[in-house]
Amino acid sequence: RPRALSGIQPTASSFHLGNYLGAIRQYVAMQETHDAFYMVVDLHAITVPQDPATLRANTRLAAAQLLAAGLDPERCTLFVQSHVPEHAQLGWLMNCITGFGEASRMTQFKDKSARHGADSATVGLFTYPILQVADILLYQADAVPVGEDQRQHIELTRDLAERFNGRFGATFNLPAAHIVREVAKIYDLQDPTAKMSKSAATAKGLVNLLDEPKASAKKFRSAVTDTDTVIRYDEKEKPGISNLLRIHSALTGTGIAELEEQYAGKGYGALKTDLAEIFVAWVTPFRERTQEYLGDPETLDSVLAEGAEKARAVAAETLALAYDRIGFLPAK
Ligand code: ATP
Ligand code: MG
Repeated sequence: RPRALSGIQPTASSFHLGNYLGAIRQYVAMQETHDAFYMVVDLHAITVPQDPATLRANTRLAAAQLLAAGLDPERCTLFVQSHVPEHAQLGWLMNCITGFGEASRMTQFKDKSARHGADSATVGLFTYPILQVADILLYQADAVPVGEDQRQHIELTRDLAERFNGRFGATFNLPAAHIVREVAKIYDLQDPTAKMSKSAATAKGLVNLLDEPKASAKKFRSAVTDTDTVIRYDEKEKPGISNLLRIHSALTGTGIAELEEQYAGKGYGALKTDLAEIFVAWVTPFRERTQEYLGDPETLDSVLAEGAEKARAVAAETLALAYDRIGFLPAK
């Protein structure tokens, strides 16, 4: 089986609909086709300020949501990044073969440092894509399920893997991004040109999975669209409607063309109201399952402990190979 690897940050008390459609749904599907490793990336979370108690709670919350979404510890390896020290260790090696200019070209750093204030951006935020390279290469991953915003980081991963292999001999597998076009970028409901994001500008445009479903329904009903009345998929002219159609299609499995037909002659209100209902029907049992997993932290923690043990077995082997290739004296 090919190997899949991906990670998600515990930077908020809830995942959002973009995380679910763009990434988590693919995690669930790939359990069936891949030897799959998924992690809650707490090392990445601290690239921006975190309150320790909140970070700990959000890490459990993240794991509970991943299980509620359908990850099955019998069919995949689910763990917390900091439980596997090899991530930080290989991360250092990768830092040492990355050019400063190369790292400076990562657009996420530019976006995020602008958002947090260029002066308060940390060196960790700057090098986080390089840690992500290590995350992926440690598992010799073939496929990395992510949203569109991560494409550049997967390119960097391939570049650095090739560079390391070229300098020191075959060590790392070259991974490919697994990006599902239709859901690769879910947009903010209030600003359909901006990515829906944990650190969104407007709370009104962000659909959090663990929010009160009624509040989310209202966000769908007040989604920003355009002044036209025709429900038609057109990313350029009708980004708001196109975003709603894509979400509808992803949640119901109905093709976009079929939806256009279904809503012919109907107003935007009908689409928004239907979508609100569809989302509530999906999210209600998801929230219940999350609460069940959270209600039993001992089981949750032991799932993560078993996952970390499985992950470490793979990670340690790759790190040992990389240490040897780069010329470190073996510790006896
Ligand atoms: P932040 O804004 O703090 O980076 P985030 O919302 O991007 O948070 P991450 O934990 O960084 O969340 O991303 C987890 C996964 O979700 C990644 O694979 C990312 O590409 C994907 N993702 C995030 N936002 C969206 C979105 N709006 N549409 C599709 N996929 C998304
Ligand atoms: Mg992100």
